[in-house]
Amino acid sequence: MGLRKIADDFYLYPGSPSTGFKILEDGVVLVDPGHGKGRHKDLLREVRKLKKPLLAQIATHGHADHITVSRKIDAPLYTHRFEFSIAESPLAREVLTFGSKAPRGFLAYSIPEEIRVHGIFEWDDELFGLKVLGLPGHSPGMSGFLSSGVIYAGDSFFGEKLLETVGLPYLLDVGAFLESLKVLEELALSGTTLVPSHGSVVSGEGAVSLVSANRKRLTSSIDLARGLLREPLSVDELALAIMKALNVEPSPKKLALNLVPVRAIIAHLYNLGEIKAVAEKGLKWVIRRD
Ligand SMILES: [Zn+2]
Repeated sequence: MGLRKIADDFYLYPGSPSTGFKILEDGVVLVDPGHGKGRHKDLLREVRKLKKPLLAQIATHGHADHITVSRKIDAPLYTHRFEFSIAESPLAREVLTFGSKAPRGFLAYSIPEEIRVHGIFEWDDELFGLKVLGLPGHSPGMSGFLSSGVIYAGDSFFGEKLLETVGLPYLLDVGAFLESLKVLEELALSGTTLVPSHGSVVSGEGAVSLVSANRKRLTSSIDLARGLLREPLSVDELALAIMKALNVEPSPKKLALNLVPVRAIIAHLYNLGEIKAVAEKGLKWVIRRD
């Protein structure tokens, strides 16, 4: 396996996430180094082939699968300000997905070690020749990196295969996720190539239709929730019912993953004034009829 050229100064090393290589005159910057035994060796081998020094690592967000190998690579790691403690603290990462310390080995991907972040950036910053775009929703400080007609968009959208296996796109904030999809759609329409962390690189019509598939999966799930909440349901009951409607086989781990976006959907409908909370054999949510 080797690097794949996406633009003259931007390459990708395959993986889930795939890792971006931004090539500058005086060195190389890694985007989302990723995880996995030996991945750091693969990345460093590719850097050596480019015959330039490694200047830095930058991360779209602080989820462990995007940054774990950064510990084994001798170059400073940069994240958005909102992602700083998520990246640094193993507990903060577990809280984001589970709501508290998580049962060991239960989460889809987690590591017990701390990760050191050496610098933070803001949206709209210029960072190593890359323009930082705010694409929040999947995580609070989710950032995309734009240069030369390519945006490395992290987990602000997903490949269709991943959407089909998991069910809902993983997100914390429905409104922010939809706004970020709008930004991606505009970029796609203006000819920018979109690089998701998990999935294939897309451009042109393919990019527009993949962004639209992400939006559809979310909006149709919100509509499903509207129908299902005619009866009072708990978050777990609603998540199971949505997964069933989307033909996703529920396992405990998959259900736990879907609970997060389902909670975000509940907050969205509640804030629109469409549903209310009831305490009926547990906390349940139901369409308002008043
Ligand atoms: Zn993520």
